Amino acid sequence: MSKAATILDHYDLRKTKCREDVLRFFISNAELALSQQEIFYHLQQHYDRATLYRTLKAFDEKGMIHRVNLAGSETKYALDQAVLKEKDRFQSHIHFQCEKCEKTVCLSEFPIYEPSLPAGYEKTKSEFLITGTCKECNSTA
Ligand SMILES: [Zn+2]
Ligand SMILES: [Zn+2]
Repeated sequence: MSKAATILDHYDLRKTKCREDVLRFFISNAELALSQQEIFYHLQQHYDRATLYRTLKAFDEKGMIHRVNLAGSETKYALDQAVLKEKDRFQSHIHFQCEKCEKTVCLSEFPIYEPSLPAGYEKTKSEFLITGTCKECNSTA
């Protein structure tokens, strides 16, 4: 069984070709957050948008991917490292957005240390997005 198929099994998702292909695309871009457009563009010859959208929704509901909200209301999706490493716990981590190549990277080895909040404040979620230039762009400069 392929890696993608094994993961779908693990998350109790019925195996469809679309789910396997989308998952494979995420696996081959591990550590990168992908926009819906990138995913649609890569797979649009094979599947319609509604099918791809449902697939992303299913992965999201299972907690296999997480959203990265960028400036200007753009959202990207990234595979949780827990999916690949078979860890159960997802850890909030820093995201890095490159201003040159526009790649968004999951810095999953860099967890977010949550500041404590003043009394009376209750957290729903926190995000930590750093912008700058990434390793690849800096090495070709
Ligand atoms: Zn870059
Ligand atoms: Zn991430």
